[in-house]
Amino acid sequence: MSGNITFTMIKPMAMRNGAGGAILKMIQDGGFEIIALKMKQMSKSDAEEFYGIHKDKPFYENLVEFMTSGPIIAAVLKKDNAVEDYRKLLGSTNPETAEEGTIRRAFATNMTMNAAHGSDSDENAIIETKFHFKDDEIFN
Ligand code: ATP
Ligand code: MG
Repeated sequence: MSGNITFTMIKPMAMRNGAGGAILKMIQDGGFEIIALKMKQMSKSDAEEFYGIHKDKPFYENLVEFMTSGPIIAAVLKKDNAVEDYRKLLGSTNPETAEEGTIRRAFATNMTMNAAHGSDSDENAIIETKFHFKDDEIFN
């Protein structure tokens, strides 16, 4: 599955705002096939591991606290060039500079509560997919 999948999470504030369905629709309208999907609440240790690359950053604790504050939707998306194309659909990390028509422009609250996550490489897409889904939960 290398090269044509990416992993996304719809973050807790977007879920609290009732935007989960609308974001999934933007994903499908953007040409992505949803090949795995679940709603779950991450534990503190899950979030610490998932965002471990940021553990020395000043926003890390706040990010972990936020990401465990309520349920998320986790999904695996399939499309040619999935990682890059999905990051385009997400828009920039800071929603104030996210382009019109992007998920973050439409649904982000601020930099931390920026509506959704997207993998940043094919390698991380696979690592993040395996972190959240067993093989028999992926319909590839
Ligand atoms: P994501 O990994 O969630 O798709 P990203 O790849 O655009 O986002 P990263 O640099 O990987 O951005 O940062 C991970 C997450 O950490 C961001 O989505 C955001 O929620 C939070 N974050 C990043 N930078 C900041 C910051 N300067 N202040 C507050 N939160 C931040
Ligand atoms: Mg990232």
